[in-house]
Amino acid sequence: MAIWIDGKAQARALRETVADEVRRLGAHQGPVPGLAAVLVGDDPASQVYVRRKGEHAREVGMRSFEHCLPASTPQGELLSLIATLNRDPSVHGILVQLPLPAHIDPEAIIDAIDPAKDVDGFHPLNVGALAAGGEGLAPCTPLGCIRLLQSHLGELTGKHAVVLGRSRIVGRPLASLLLREDCTVTVAHSKTSNPAKVCRQGDILVAAVGQPGLVQGDWVKAGATVIDVGITRLGDGDSRRLVGDVDAACVSRVAGALTPVPGGVGPMTIACLLHNTLIAACRQHGLPDPHDRAPSERLHLTHPHE
Ligand code: NAP
Repeated sequence: MAIWIDGKAQARALRETVADEVRRLGAHQGPVPGLAAVLVGDDPASQVYVRRKGEHAREVGMRSFEHCLPASTPQGELLSLIATLNRDPSVHGILVQLPLPAHIDPEAIIDAIDPAKDVDGFHPLNVGALAAGGEGLAPCTPLGCIRLLQSHLGELTGKHAVVLGRSRIVGRPLASLLLREDCTVTVAHSKTSNPAKVCRQGDILVAAVGQPGLVQGDWVKAGATVIDVGITRLGDGDSRRLVGDVDAACVSRVAGALTPVPGGVGPMTIACLLHNTLIAACRQHGLPDPHDRAPSERLHLTHPHE
């Protein structure tokens, strides 16, 4: 039977590391990292996420600024708030909770965030930096996946990693991070023919599709490490539950290790957001990056003429 990779424990350990670094900054008269979260509308799940991010930020000693705006907020007003946060020296990280109401163009909002404060790693400059090997901020869920893989496997060099899903927030950036770790990377998606056969090639399989139970036992190589990013809410009331993209009952008989849903990638996403905020604060104050950074976050710029 597969080993369960405990995302809650890994996330707690990362939050403790971040808290230590925040204390160390304070002891050396450094900045208090500040995270601003912007929520537009009253989607209950988004409200929970934003509240939880604020609580965790305060727990690690950061400043948390929460801006909850009505669903009718005009795009221009949201852009003005972003401009204010960009200028505010006590704010080192800005996240805008997605999805936004239909009348707001998410691209315009993401483009308006100062890339140095873009702790979600969605700004085109950060996306480009990740793809090109430059210095940037990488998205939090893929960073969490890399940390979970390293916690179980250590060095990832030479592993064949299959990423199921090619979204901008998970699949694509994760493929770039895995390449940084010197994995051989295959990306599969809804147009891939025979995805089961493709997935079965992976020493590592990451499922990020949003299709409950899509990945069955015969999609997985014996002994593979499987990361289940998917989160789908099923049922109502007392029967309400979260399920992943992996049929855990079948896959746990084949895989070497597997992340649970809930309690796997989810907690790591917020912990990595805090870590990105710490990195952003250090860089904005001309300080070296925190020393514990995972190899894939050390994004060195390589010039073609070097
Ligand atoms: P998304 O934007 O909808 O992208 C889904 C991807 O899966 C697409 O690339 C799609 O292919 C592919 N896909 C869909 N059905 C498929 C199938 N039957 N076979 C192969 N590929 C298929 O979703 P997302 O934002 O990446 O999120 C994916 C899942 O992760 C969701 O359940 C989401 O809730 C969860 N998630 C969790 C966290 C966390 O913190 N744990 C964070 C983000 C997302 P095409 O490109 O061809 O359409």
